Amino acid sequence: MLQNVRMVRPNQRLHAQHALPAHPDASPTLPPVQRTGQLAGVASHFLQHDMAYGELALVCPTGTEPHHTLDWQSTQPVRLLRNVMRLTAPNPGFMTGPGTNSYLVGDAHTGFIAIDPGPADADHIQRLWRAALHPDGSGGNIQMIVCTHSHADHSPGAKPLQALCAPQPPILGLPSAPTARVASAFTPDRVLQNNELLTLIPRGLEADFTAGPPQGESTPFGGSAAHAVASVGANSTHTHTLQTIYTPGHAANHVCLLLVEDGLLFSGDHILNGSTTVIDPPDGHMGDYLQSLDTLLAASAQHDVQFILPAHGHVLGGSTAAARGVITHLKAHRLKREAKIAAVMAAHPLGTLDDWLPLAYDDVDSRVWPVAKRSLLAHVEHIHSLTPNNNNKAAAL
Ligand SMILES: [Zn+2]
Repeated sequence: MLQNVRMVRPNQRLHAQHALPAHPDASPTLPPVQRTGQLAGVASHFLQHDMAYGELALVCPTGTEPHHTLDWQSTQPVRLLRNVMRLTAPNPGFMTGPGTNSYLVGDAHTGFIAIDPGPADADHIQRLWRAALHPDGSGGNIQMIVCTHSHADHSPGAKPLQALCAPQPPILGLPSAPTARVASAFTPDRVLQNNELLTLIPRGLEADFTAGPPQGESTPFGGSAAHAVASVGANSTHTHTLQTIYTPGHAANHVCLLLVEDGLLFSGDHILNGSTTVIDPPDGHMGDYLQSLDTLLAASAQHDVQFILPAHGHVLGGSTAAARGVITHLKAHRLKREAKIAAVMAAHPLGTLDDWLPLAYDDVDSRVWPVAKRSLLAHVEHIHSLTPNNNNKAAAL
């Protein structure tokens, strides 16, 4: 199943910087801010252009706390913010990179929204359940399950997770379109509306902060349940609001989610860190994808989004300008590729996709070409759609 092209292995391009080269985009009057994280137990330093920089900006805003580990965690959740945890599914691979990021948004007093439960991996689902703590330290405090889209590495875990919880939370998302592959067939319990707000509201301050863990049970963070409950108790008056944003393009039923109170964008597979989103027609559509980037740019400006949390890879961004830069760079990259493809097509007007592929993607590892061919088709369809009276050309490819 085509998901995302991985150009690199996990952690291969984290770009740990042990020297401090000048960053080409850095302001001439402001020195670059170095941030420090842990890789394989070793403190490593990162600058703005490094792939892990945005995550360190979110987790270690002072830039001086060297404790955050950037190694991928599949056995315990990583707390990214007081109300956001990430648990990466144990499904690393060529199409999934380090694995699918499942996110839990909320706290013990509001319950959690689970975003992208991932594949139907029993251990992963159990860990998600355990991480969603009730005030008494027990798990399964999940109010809603949202699937950004229905690819096999995102949505099959939704029903098993739902079945573990009592009461069972609804599975929300968009139904798969007729264009979806069979493995991506999906019907949510309730269809999300565009710009719908999903709000978690505190259920009171009656938590028993002296409660210990149930007999024989530890918390997913390795500490006592009482400590974990106390740590979320400080946030018990917070609400957490996710705004749904329709973003077709990678998949026809793709949605992104914007955490309004914190300026975070959960981008699903529409924006990735360390790899390029595959657009696989007919369910994938390049024109829709580009338009959805514009939609995300506008929503990010409206809500001062500073960080983008993708379904694969570390957190992106670090400021409103950095988050905006991620989106604008992504669109520019796509349009640059499309211009290259158009030039190849013009030079070889009688060519086929197989003729154009090695020319249009000569800067990409040939092992990626079979998958890149799907995005090539998406670009060719888009190019034809922009050319008057040529809308039927793509059908002949
Ligand atoms: Zn996908």
